[in-house]
Amino acid sequence: MSNEKQEIKRLESQWPLISAMRNGEEVTWINDQKLKNGPDDWPITLEEIHEADARLRRFAPFLTAVFPETKEAGGIIESPLLEIEHMKAFLEKYHCETITGCLYMKADHLLPVAGSVKARGGMYEVLKHAESLAIEHGLLSTEEDYSKLANEEMRAFFSNYSLAVGSTGNLGLSIGITGAALGFRTTVHMSTDAKEWKKTRLRDRGVEVIEYADDYSRAVEEGRELSAKTKNSFFIDDEHSKELFLGYSTAALRLQEQFQKENIAVDEDHPLIVYLPCGVGGAPGGIFTGLKRVFGEHVYGFFAEPVQAPCMLLGLMTGLHDQIAVQDAGIELKTEADGLAVGRPSSFVGKAVANDLDGVFTVLDDKLFIYLNQMAKLEGEQLEPSALAGIEGPVRAKVSGWLESHFTDSQQKGAVHLVWSTGGSLVPEEEMIVMIKKGEQY
Ligand SMILES: *Cc1c(COP(=O)(O)O)cnc(C)c1O
Repeated sequence: MSNEKQEIKRLESQWPLISAMRNGEEVTWINDQKLKNGPDDWPITLEEIHEADARLRRFAPFLTAVFPETKEAGGIIESPLLEIEHMKAFLEKYHCETITGCLYMKADHLLPVAGSVKARGGMYEVLKHAESLAIEHGLLSTEEDYSKLANEEMRAFFSNYSLAVGSTGNLGLSIGITGAALGFRTTVHMSTDAKEWKKTRLRDRGVEVIEYADDYSRAVEEGRELSAKTKNSFFIDDEHSKELFLGYSTAALRLQEQFQKENIAVDEDHPLIVYLPCGVGGAPGGIFTGLKRVFGEHVYGFFAEPVQAPCMLLGLMTGLHDQIAVQDAGIELKTEADGLAVGRPSSFVGKAVANDLDGVFTVLDDKLFIYLNQMAKLEGEQLEPSALAGIEGPVRAKVSGWLESHFTDSQQKGAVHLVWSTGGSLVPEEEMIVMIKKGEQY
């Protein structure tokens, strides 16, 4: 037997769930390392989340100046909170299960500018970098009106600097669009999964796109190396970045505001259970950690991954984090959910959420398209496949027995199930029609 095969056998005997994962079955992993009163050692503080939010608000005048679609919201990049009753009814029918409590969707596919959850982390890190450079060179102070960053003199200044990022697509879009708006020279290293229209859209804005016939980890690695050799170049490192994580976490403050407006309580009788699509882990990890910081102990969370890309599940279950890739366990990393096509998880997110996350489940690609179709038909919302990974979370939490073992009947009635939609509004109409058609049959 080859070494590789032996290693897979060893992993399977230690973690039997891996056999099912290799067979292409959907699995639900409940986190047995979760601590009831976990230590307060998340990588970010509530104060830092507030600072990040304040920074984004300083940039609002700049954003309205360069992205007219943000004018109405005053330059605040935010998405609506939607109650999805029709989708809830469909999920109940499709799975022959009732979903007790209410079901909301945080519609990050509608985030302006980048059209995906990456608008939170990616834009934040680029804006923070631009602010630091401008302040360092005496061109800006935090008391000034940031719309001045849109003028020619500032663009000329930023054109002396480069940004680079490795991406499966959406992070590249978010960094590329924001970087180009400021005048940075921007390079996006794209993995083979990245969709053609994402590359075209970036090139149209003057962003350099380098393609790799390899997976996402490789695109990141190459990008990181090339950037290190380039003068004045800043690499946005999806596998390690705390700034991205912080950008994502600000979602919690915005959600708190929306909950207050809608009179949605989060307390012992009304647990908040969130279901987040997971790629490398930065977006779901940052959002979940933010929610824990802002709402506290009554927040529960599950990450959702494609059957063929369960990198966070593997990293958490084995405790090996970024020391294991899905290929090491004999899983192929083939999924239509391009935003989640990641073989190796972030170096720090798994460790950050290990004490608090409730579990990770995997979903078959075919179902992502069925949900995509129903979401378009029943709710009129157009999501990309990755964005639907979490949608059956409330059902999975139930059939795994997790809900019943954690909550009384009355708590289950008061529960707020929140699925996070992560992208889709920039998908070209022709491609969306094809994807909707693909999910026609079920
Ligand atoms: C990037 C992305 C995710 C997951 O974010 P990670 O930080 O990679 O875990 C989910 N959905 C979509 C559409 C994405 O683009």
